[in-house]
Formats: sequence, C-alpha cells, structure tokens
Amino acid sequence: MYHSAVRFWQKRSLRFWLTSGLIMTISPFIAFSILTYIFVHERIVNPLLDLTSEQIGILSPINELQTTLWDVSRTVTGFAINAEPNLSEEYAIQAQRIDNAFSRLSEASNSAYVQLKDDLASAQQQWLRVAAHSEVILREPHTHMSPAFGSKVITFENEISALGYKLEQVYEDLQQQNEQLRHQVLETLEFANKMFVLVLLSATLIGLLGLLILNRSLLCSMNKLTEGASKFATGDTSHHIDIGTPMEMASVAHTFNSMKNKIIEQHKALELEANMDGLTGLLNRRKFNEQIELELNLARQGSYPVSVIICDIDHFKQFNDTYGHLDGDEALKAVAQTLKNGIRDNDKACRYGGEEFVIILPHCASNAAYMIADKLRQKVASQMIIIEERKVSPLTISMGVAVFPEHGKTSETLIKHADQALYKAKDHGRNRVFMASTDC
Ligand code: GH3
Ligand code: MG
Ligand code: MG
Repeated sequence: MYHSAVRFWQKRSLRFWLTSGLIMTISPFIAFSILTYIFVHERIVNPLLDLTSEQIGILSPINELQTTLWDVSRTVTGFAINAEPNLSEEYAIQAQRIDNAFSRLSEASNSAYVQLKDDLASAQQQWLRVAAHSEVILREPHTHMSPAFGSKVITFENEISALGYKLEQVYEDLQQQNEQLRHQVLETLEFANKMFVLVLLSATLIGLLGLLILNRSLLCSMNKLTEGASKFATGDTSHHIDIGTPMEMASVAHTFNSMKNKIIEQHKALELEANMDGLTGLLNRRKFNEQIELELNLARQGSYPVSVIICDIDHFKQFNDTYGHLDGDEALKAVAQTLKNGIRDNDKACRYGGEEFVIILPHCASNAAYMIADKLRQKVASQMIIIEERKVSPLTISMGVAVFPEHGKTSETLIKHADQALYKAKDHGRNRVFMASTDC
C-alpha cells in the first residue's frame, strides 16, 4: 500500500507538481471569497431583508387601521344623521378590528424603532379617545340633532381625522424607511456579488498567469533540454540547446552544450588517432581500405579515373642493418613526409605496412599518375637523410601504378596490379616507376 502510493507520486510529472502547487497557492483566495460571500449573505443581507419584511408586516395592519377608521367614521356619522340601531353593532365589529390591528402592530414592531413604538402608542391613545367619543355618540338616543350633540360629532370627526392623519404619516415614514432599507440591501447584495465574482476571476486569472509563466520559463526549457539531449543521443551533434531564462536552466543548457562540444572534440581526436599511422602521421591501412572504396564509388558515379600508386623503399633492411631501427624510423618518417608534400590536397597518402606506402589520386589518369609517381621517386632519391646531424646517402623507392577503371574495377584488382607493377620495378633494378599492364 505504502509502496504503491510512493510509486504513484513518483510517476507524477513536473507539470502535475507545478499545477498542484499553484492550485494550493490560490485556493486560500478562493476560500476567502466564498466565506466572504457567505458572511455577507448570512450576517448582513439576510438580517436586512428580515427587517424589511418585518416592516412590511407593520405596514399591512396600519393600512387596515386606516380603512377601518374610515368605516368607523362613516358608521358613527351615519348613526348621528340617521340613528339606525344596527349601526351600533357594525361599530362594535369595526372597533374590534381596530383593537386587533393595534395588538398585531405591537407584536410585529418588537424589534422596530423606538420612534415607531412611540408613534403607535400615541396613535393607540388617540384611538381610545376616538372610541370614547364614538361610544358617547352611539349611546345617545335622539330624534333631532341638538347643538350639544352636533359639537360632540364635530369633536369626534376632528379626533378621528387627526388619528387618520397620524396613521398616514406613520405609514409614509415606514414606507420610506422600507424603501431606503431595501435599496441599501440590494446595493450591498450587488456589491457582494460583484466582489465575489471579481475575487474569483482574479484568483483564476492569477493562477492561469502563473501556470503560463511556469510553462514558458520552466517547462519549455525542460522540453528544450530533453529534446537536445535525445537529439545528441541519436547522433545529431549539430544541435545547440538555446535557453535564455530561467538562469538556472540556461546554466544547465550551457553546461550541456560545453559537455557536448568536449565529447565531440574527444571523439574527433579519437577518430583521427584511429585513422592515423602513429609513426609517419599518414593515414593507416584501415583508413586506406575505407578511403579507396569511397573514392572508387564516387569515380563510378562520376565516371572519372582514379590512380593508385604503391611505393616500397629499396633495400630498407640494409639501411636498418647499417644505422639501426631507430634511425630507420626517422628515415621512414622523412620519406613519408616527402610523399605527402608532393601530392595535391585531395590526394591521399597512406602507410600500407612496413616500409610500403600507397597513394590514391582521384581524377588522375594513367599519364598524369605516372608523371606524379616519377616526380615523387626523384624527390625521394634526391633527398638527403640526416642521421645524428650528419647526412647519409639518400634512399630510393620503387613504384607500381594502376588506374581505375583500365587496370581494375575493384580495389582488390587495382592493388593487385599496382603490386605486380611494383615487383616489376624491383626486378628491373629498383628506383623506378612501372605502370600496370593493360592486358591484366
Ligand atoms: P627491397 O628493395 O626488396 O624492398 O628490400 P628491402 O630490404 O626493403 O625488403 P624487405 O621486405 O626484405 O625488408 C623490409 C624491411 O623494412 C624489413 C624491416 O626491418 C623494415 N621495416 C619495416 N617496418 C619498419 C619500421 O617501422 N621501422 C624500421 N626501422 N624498419 C622497418
Ligand atoms: Mg617491403
Ligand atoms: Mg623494401
């Protein structure tokens, strides 16, 4: 269980770790905005909304009070004018309704303002006075309106109008307050919503921006590094890893490029060493085999001649016997240098083995090859060998020349015929050049 969990986390990519880190960084912002949103709703907006609905609960009994008061006014004045006995019962019902409305108001306005409570208490006092006047009028049996009765009716009318006016004022004040409160609540709500969206959007944008920056700076550089390393691993040595930022990755890329150049240099040095003859500095036999195949293939495609010259130092055993092997080596180097200096840049001089050399001359037909070989022979023959600061008699070389395609179409036949020509040169007294015969 533990090991599989460790394996799971080990397999996660760098992109995964960066994204997780970023999400963890912005999550407090998101949590904060959600909590703020909840707080604003629970502790500010909802209580304010409750308050406005409470006020609406007060408004409706006041409204009822106002209409019932008009009914009372109509009933009492109707009684004063017509003296209908059933109006008295109607009044009792209306007065009950008013009492109920007042008690509903006192229940609903528990948490409302002190001013409202005072206003309602004085309205209730006014109503008690109106009720007293009403009851006096309704109790009085009359057939015609006396001046005293008329004045009672007028007082009643004045009292009930004052109460009506009072209630209208309370109603208007409350309605105004309610409107203001409602407006305030809606504004707060809108602000909270906007803030919530803003914080959420900015957290997301910051997160995305962070991801973008990380992606561009770190992941792109990582990809460049990986791409460069795999290209180098598959043999593409020309690819250069180019990273500007971040500094650390640029430094890794720089180190990688330097390491790559060092490896290439070492590889080239090794290759050169593997292709070169250690004593003379000419190409070795292995490189000659490779080179002759290459040149013959090119010559076949381009249909041009390639000449091969094989040289062998004359009586070199005797030279060694006379001056010793170490001086023999020096003489061998001197002859090799003369051969190398006497040919063109694109000709190849190789040490074939012992004191034998072979030269490849691309684009060189038999006449020119013979002339070059003879010139080289003369140069060697005229070159004084210096041993222990004294000049000793020059060495001579014998040479055999074969030309592609007339003396052979493969490297083996060409070398064989050049070798045969060399033997002929030896047989005919050495220090001479022989051309391979065309009938071979
Ligand atoms: P020829 O004219 O018939 O070629 O006579 P030669 O003495 O040159 O022929 P041979 O093949 O009998 O001898 C070649 C000699 O070259 C034998 C060997 O001692 C010498 N030799 C071969 N490689 C080296 C070398 O690297 N250094 C030295 N000092 N001598 C070498
Ligand atoms: Mg030899
Ligand atoms: Mg020899």
